[in-house]
This record gives sequence, C-alpha cells and structure tokens, in this order.
Amino acid sequence: MANTVVKIDGLVKRYKDLIALDHLALEIREGEVFGLLGPNGSGKTTTINCLLSLLAYDNGSIEIFGKPMTPTSYDIKREIGIIMQNVAVFDELTVYDNIDYFCGLYITDKAQRKQYVDEAIKFVGLEDFTKFYPKKLSGGLLRRLNIACGIAHKPKLIILDEPTVAVDPQSRNKILEGIEELNRQGATIIYTSHYMEEVEQICTRIAIMDKGHKVAEGTKEELKKMIKNTETISVEVRGLTDEIREQVASLPHVYLAEYTDGILKVCCSGGKHNLIRVLGVLQEHELHIGRVYSELPTLNDVFLEITGKALRDKED
Ligand code: ADP
Ligand code: MG
Repeated sequence: MANTVVKIDGLVKRYKDLIALDHLALEIREGEVFGLLGPNGSGKTTTINCLLSLLAYDNGSIEIFGKPMTPTSYDIKREIGIIMQNVAVFDELTVYDNIDYFCGLYITDKAQRKQYVDEAIKFVGLEDFTKFYPKKLSGGLLRRLNIACGIAHKPKLIILDEPTVAVDPQSRNKILEGIEELNRQGATIIYTSHYMEEVEQICTRIAIMDKGHKVAEGTKEELKKMIKNTETISVEVRGLTDEIREQVASLPHVYLAEYTDGILKVCCSGGKHNLIRVLGVLQEHELHIGRVYSELPTLNDVFLEITGKALRDKED
C-alpha cells in the first residue's frame, strides 16, 4: 500500500452559523489523482484552505506527509504546489517573471531555477507569451500561467482548485493532460471540480461532497456500482399516452419511465436488451420514433441517487 500523503480526520469548519465542513475525513495516498467532486458551495475550497493551514478550523486533525500540518510547517509547504481557484499572479510582472518569482520562493540556486522556470513554461505551453503581462492573456492562458507558478518548483503534492472554470476547450485539454503528466512524473494530485466529466477522465479516486459532507468515495467504477442505475435510455417519440408509458415502466429492469417535452426517459437497473424491449413497446403501438440514446451511468447519476439533486445546472 502506498504511503499516505494527506490524512484529514473529523474536520469541522464553521462560518458563524453555517457548517461548511461537517466531520470530513479523507485519506489521500501517494501517486493518486484524487478528485474532490461537488457542486458549488459543497466545501471544496474550504477543505483546501484548511488543508493548507490558510484557514483556522473548529475541530479535527490534518496530517501531510505523516506530520501534523500547522501554519508554520514550512518543510511541508515547500513540497506542496497550490493552484488556487482565483488566479493569483502579479499584474506588474511578465509571464516569465511571475513564474520566476514563485519558483524563487523555493529554489534559490539561479541556474536550477532558470531550468525549472523554462520547464514550467514549456509544460503549460506559454513559450510564445513569456514577455506578456497577465492582463494581455486570455482566460485560458492566464489559468495556464497560474498553474505554471504553482508547479515550477516540482512539488510532491499538487493541489488544483477548479483550474478549468471558464476556460476554452483547448486550454482545458492542455490543463487536464498536464495534470496527468505531472502525476506520471511522480506528483500526488488533489483536484477539485464540479465538472464530473473531468473528474471521471483524470481521477484515480473520487470523493463526492455535498453540504460539507463526504457522501461517497471510491474509483469511478466503484461509485457507479453503488447505485441502482445501470442504463438510461432516451427516445424522441411523439404522442406517447400515459398507458404506453406505464407499459414501458412495467418492463423488467425498468424502475423509472418519464415522458416530458417529447422525450421518453427510461432508467434501468441491470438486465440486457433493455433498449430493444423499450423500442418493442413503442413499435407495437406504431409510434414514430426519432433519435434514440442509451447512456451508461455518469457520476451525475451517482450524485443524483445519493443526494436527490443534480450535480449542476444544465446551463453550467
Ligand atoms: P466550494 O469550493 O465547494 O464551492 P466553499 O468551500 O467555497 O465551497 O464554500 C462552502 C460553504 O461555505 C458555502 O456555503 C459558502 O457560501 C460558505 N463560505 C465559504 N467561504 C466563506 C466565508 N469566508 N464566510 C462565510 N461563508 C463562507
Ligand atoms: Mg471552490
């Protein structure tokens, strides 16, 4: 079993009357890309801030690399790279000088620092922008600069708090690929997001958070096995009566059949040939069938079944 890198136990954080973290426990092991997945306000950033001792908490304990984490644990902090949710760079410094500044907090040897800064620039693909000031960068490039500042000193533990929010697809892919590469090079990663697709794509283990609670934890496969949904079928069909919908609902393995806005949605639990049986019923009644989808469960389905609500709004 790999070494434990982060161990959080019974963590409680209150903001006045609001309990932002309610007895949170997490254990993150060396080599993991650990995902903290939860909707806005679920407590992800608060967890990160407590973990880094940036925020005082009401109860619980936090260990990093097997040692208690305190505001003066400089030996631990040196080994951590942090990429904050809100971009934190100096507007007065160029791209190069920003990375050089943050790297310089850890690496004092000039030649080594130059090498590390150059590597970080290459890593995030900012070679053509080294003389730019942050204000001249697009949102995606600014995010990449933020990441370069956090990783240039080659930390063992890298924490990224929603690094892809409001980022164009090209930068997003670059960022996700970069995180996987950092992990391959040996870093342990903590990645927070409310985008389930990203968490599924890159995380080796995931904790799902809601309202300061950890509601589930495991690999994406394990999480999906926790729920009854195994397949969601959607069929565009006009003029479906309630009797026909009920006939679909009573098919084997079907636990939900809804008809809204011309789309029949059928949720199944186990079984094979569910799609064929659903289409069979519709055909029997000579209904005109439009587009048909069959989807495997997503982490959103996991969140929905456990908490009773969607992970995020559709337009997000
Ligand atoms: P997330 O990062 O998952 O979006 P946060 O950790 O930022 O969630 O917030 C968790 C909860 O704590 C939310 O309800 C939020 O409104 C509240 N909160 C966060 N920071 C503060 C603060 N400084 N003062 C009061 N409430 C806060
Ligand atoms: Mg946050």
